[in-house]
Amino acid sequence: MLLNRRNFTKILGITAAGAMLPKMSVGKSIPAYIKSGGSSKMKLTFKPYPLQMQHTFTVAEYSRNSTPDVLTQIDYEGLTGYGEASMPPYLGESIASATRFLKKVNLEQFPDPFRVDDILTYVDSIAEGNPAAKASIDIALHDLLGKMVNQPLYKLWGLDPQKTPDTDFTIGIDKPDVVRAKTEEAIKMKEHLKVLKVKLGRGNDQEMINAVRSVTNMPLYVDVNQGWKDKNKALDMIYWLKEKGVVFVEQPMPKGQVDDMAWLTEYSPLPTMADEAFQRLPDIVDKIKGVYSGINIKLMKSTGLFEAQKMITVARALDMKVMVGCMTETSCGVSAIAQLSPLVDWADLDGNLLIKNDPFTGMKVINGKVTLNDWPGIGVKKV
Ligand code: MG
Repeated sequence: MLLNRRNFTKILGITAAGAMLPKMSVGKSIPAYIKSGGSSKMKLTFKPYPLQMQHTFTVAEYSRNSTPDVLTQIDYEGLTGYGEASMPPYLGESIASATRFLKKVNLEQFPDPFRVDDILTYVDSIAEGNPAAKASIDIALHDLLGKMVNQPLYKLWGLDPQKTPDTDFTIGIDKPDVVRAKTEEAIKMKEHLKVLKVKLGRGNDQEMINAVRSVTNMPLYVDVNQGWKDKNKALDMIYWLKEKGVVFVEQPMPKGQVDDMAWLTEYSPLPTMADEAFQRLPDIVDKIKGVYSGINIKLMKSTGLFEAQKMITVARALDMKVMVGCMTETSCGVSAIAQLSPLVDWADLDGNLLIKNDPFTGMKVINGKVTLNDWPGIGVKKV
């Protein structure tokens, strides 16, 4: 029996986690779904889609004007799930590597899209690395699942959309007058913005913070992108930043300086958040526990939502802070991770606001807060 969209919205939906859906009749529906097994025609397609930046983006280690990106989609029974791989060059993936990886993926061997564990375990086993390429399949698959049962993912996961955090907007490293202008522009562009993230680590940290503080008193997150090499100077700077209203410090030191980083976290008056220092789930126990106060989860590192959910569980079990972040991404990737944001402490989800050519509309920032719509799946539409 072929299942079309109407059938699916009638039947009992079973999510990746096995949760039951509201308003759906239980008794008759399960057989309809189970009988459909084996009729899968999941089809993966993808295309390069370089992202054009609004401004040259400068952090401690590099500057750039565009970001390589690949858009994916999985089609199944008349529905389409959307995904994306955003690949800032310093992380080692590229449109060429993602293309090579995605060409190897055969989803037609699976009976239906609900076999999330089997499908993503298979995708992960195709080759080492390639976290963004893997995420592009994970996101499209989750979007498809939500559309099949006509519900947003946050609902399937049992999350309250009112519990989303505020999101910051990022101010890159520049000269003081440019920083002042960018801060003013950010506040104007994003009415009711409640928090800013300031990039530090190029030797002009106090100048950067003072320039921002000449415009606004709102709380600040700080991302050093591994820019501080001396732990004692780093600690002094964190004390100064605390006085300036900074909430946490992300990736203050190089990821390889593990002992220095553990010392800094022990004495730091602010939480330290790991970003470049980890990618996958096992890293949390192997590299982050006892070294940082918390983790910044990004789908392009975690290989997608499936592993990101597990990361949150593990981090909370270890009493760690959790934030969600993004690369420069379209509304596709940003809206996908926003579905998980009711579970986290802080959000840095401004990636879609940094580009000129967003092909999607989805999660919005309203009154400074991550605001989820009630569209199914990851909550995006093509524009
Ligand atoms: Mg970061």
